[in-house]
Amino acid sequence: MENNKVGFFKSIQFKLIIIYVLLIFIAIQIIGVYFVRQLEEQLVSNYRTMLDERANLLAYNIEQEMVKTREDPQTLTTDINNLLREFFSVENAEVQVIDINKTVISTSNRQNTHIVGQQTTEVMVKRALVGTGDDRVVRDPQTGQRIQIVIMPIKSDNVTIGAIYIEASMEEIYEQIQQINSILATGTVIALVITALLIILVARTITSPILDMRKQAIRMAAGDFSNQVHVYSKDEIGQLANAFNDLTARIKEANASTEREKKKLSSVLTHMTDGVIATDSNGNIILMNKRAEELLETTSEVAIEKSLPDVLRMTEAYSVYELSDFTDGILLDFSNEEQDYLLQASFSVIQKENGPINGIITVLHDVTEREKIEHERREFVANVSHELRTPLTTMKSYLEALEDGALQDEELAPRFLQVTQTETERMIRLVNDLLQLSKIDSRDYQLTLQKVDFHQYLHETVDRFEMIAKDKNVTFKRKLPAFPSEVQIDKDKITQVIDNIVSNALKYSPEGATITISLVNQGKNIRVGVADQGVGIPRESQAKIFERFYRVDKARARNVGGTGLGLAIAKELVHAHGGKIWVQSTYGNGTTIYFTLPYSVSHGGA
Ligand code: ADP
Repeated sequence: MENNKVGFFKSIQFKLIIIYVLLIFIAIQIIGVYFVRQLEEQLVSNYRTMLDERANLLAYNIEQEMVKTREDPQTLTTDINNLLREFFSVENAEVQVIDINKTVISTSNRQNTHIVGQQTTEVMVKRALVGTGDDRVVRDPQTGQRIQIVIMPIKSDNVTIGAIYIEASMEEIYEQIQQINSILATGTVIALVITALLIILVARTITSPILDMRKQAIRMAAGDFSNQVHVYSKDEIGQLANAFNDLTARIKEANASTEREKKKLSSVLTHMTDGVIATDSNGNIILMNKRAEELLETTSEVAIEKSLPDVLRMTEAYSVYELSDFTDGILLDFSNEEQDYLLQASFSVIQKENGPINGIITVLHDVTEREKIEHERREFVANVSHELRTPLTTMKSYLEALEDGALQDEELAPRFLQVTQTETERMIRLVNDLLQLSKIDSRDYQLTLQKVDFHQYLHETVDRFEMIAKDKNVTFKRKLPAFPSEVQIDKDKITQVIDNIVSNALKYSPEGATITISLVNQGKNIRVGVADQGVGIPRESQAKIFERFYRVDKARARNVGGTGLGLAIAKELVHAHGGKIWVQSTYGNGTTIYFTLPYSVSHGGA
């Protein structure tokens, strides 16, 4: 908001002054005009009445003088002159007396005595001599002054015997009116000045609370809600100030709650395990949480204002409308040669009912692990199906052959039955292995731990192998320390581990081979090694042999009855004990499988 002051000529003060000054001016003018006109009329009519009365009186006296019979007609003029002096002492007025012959016989104006004895040319006088009087106002052609003229016939017994002609200047009246006018004008000016001063004072009482509120509004705009405006009165402005204070309190509360919501939202966003990105209606990013920054390996500063498809490294520049059509979300593949990296992006639009889309919220999940597990699961199912199909197909074809007559063949029948039995056994082995793996995979898998002298235990195990492989021409070598070593193990499980490893050594070694079993005590754990002199494992396969269903040479492995799960089970069991398993092998020159076991298992399960 602008903080500059309102100019005086735009202020309410000025407007009020103008309005009131104009009102008062107009009122005084109207009153003045009526008053002056009335006064003028009154004065003029008074003056005329006065003149008329004087003229009447004069006319009567002159008539008396004129009708008098006198010996010397000269005395008439003198008498009339005396009468004029006696009865007509009006200032600035001249009176002439004219006889029936239109001759001026007397004048009150001493400077004008030359007209005495002359014939008058006045038309009005001539008319008066016929019997009709007259009065009118004329202007002096030289001075422009207004002059009242009154003409009156002098009658004797209803016979006109002469006339009186009065010329009276009205200037005095108009001077008076002029004076009154100027008093009015001065009065008006004084009234207006006083009004203006009063209005300035009155307007202050209106404008200062308004200015207060304005200041408060500016402070509020800047986010400061601490002040209240002063309530000066209980009038409308006072009510406005009250309402304003109420508004301040409400906005303050609203602001605080928005602020709280904001904080809540931002802490929710910060602590979310999913990445969240919000855009505006053009698809440009306006918000991004920490997790989204991590997932996209970028920062808010870099990403904000950029378009969402760009930041998600999408191949096409989709609009928000197109993005909102991906109802199931999309999978973003950021994998490179070294590692897989998959993100699932789901979009939801910010939109008021049927209104335009105001923006889009994108939620990002790291689905690398999920996809990997999903992939492994699919592969596992495919592998299991494949592993089962081979023996089943073999059995089917042998059983068909038996049905087709081979059963009667004494030589073939036992051989064929033997094959189906081998295949059945293989399937049982496979299913057993699978069951075992699924047990290990299940959450509540538990080891039954017990303290075992591993030295003693290995001796017994090798004794057992020697028994089993007695007729196989295999030599077992023991490289065991002379002292006992107590290890906490689940005996059955470790037996299975060693069985799996040793049976591999037997399977992949030629006749007459030597299998060396070693035990080394190292710091916190023991290391067991099973070395053979068999075919060995190529370097590139060494890391994979512990995977489920992995076999270096599929055909050979199947021939020797392998399921591809033995080492995978061994790995899981060793891991469950907190140990490690690995292989050392030179292709074509024997293999050694090592595994370690801690003396005591800190955790009881997988
Ligand atoms: P299998 O039941 O097929 O033996 P394993 O998981 O036990 O499955 O072994 C995986 C693969 O590792 C075997 O198919 C084999 O190719 C290879 N392998 C395991 N042990 C040896 C060994 N001692 N010598 C050579 N190859 C081996």
